Amino acid sequence: MPKNLIVFDFDWSFVDQDTDRWVFEVLSTKLRRALQDRKSNGSQCTPDVVDQTMADLFDAGFKKEQVLDALRILPFHPAMRRAVTALKDRGETDFLCLSNSNEVYIGTILEHHNLTNLFAEVITNPAHWAGDRLHIGRRLPADGPQHTCKVGCLANMCKGDELDAWLAAHGGKDAYEKIVYVGDGGNDFCPLLRMRKGDVACVRKNMELHGRIKEEGEKEGIKVDVKLWDQAWVIDE
Ligand SMILES: [Mg+2]
Repeated sequence: MPKNLIVFDFDWSFVDQDTDRWVFEVLSTKLRRALQDRKSNGSQCTPDVVDQTMADLFDAGFKKEQVLDALRILPFHPAMRRAVTALKDRGETDFLCLSNSNEVYIGTILEHHNLTNLFAEVITNPAHWAGDRLHIGRRLPADGPQHTCKVGCLANMCKGDELDAWLAAHGGKDAYEKIVYVGDGGNDFCPLLRMRKGDVACVRKNMELHGRIKEEGEKEGIKVDVKLWDQAWVIDE
């Protein structure tokens, strides 16, 4: 029975890029700009906006294989690979991915790096292909029950609620001696508030999450130990 849980945000945490932006940066500057103009809410893209821009990509004649190829060349640090495979091999840790990207992007990247079996579960937005058009949905559909989070999660997903629900379905927090969270984004702040003293947040230096912890951490009663990192080799250490 594993004793620890490691939770990874995906963009700029597990990998060294933002998946949503990267696909358009590889394929079309015009559509990358469209994504930039449409996105709202700080640095985060909502899946609605990404889906809308994927429709434009399809209309411009881009093919499924081109999107998949863009994902396959997305920067993934060799030291991160080394870190997670070594930790996995020790057999004392469960891996969970909690991401505002989508199933197709993450699945494609993990498969390309032979890491399909790394995570016990990937919690993210749904996505599927219809021919060459990638459809991206919301983790919480717009027409269903919404989350009530007040610390600034996007409408489509509250990572704190997702972490709590996953833990509740897997024996509760106490099933794990330690929970470690690796993140960088503003929406990674909420799950950290659900973690315990003695748990660890590996926070990417000078990114949005770091800023939120400095400004709001004390006020919100954050209990976890915060460790800063900038490059994947530090995570490996
Ligand atoms: Mg991120």
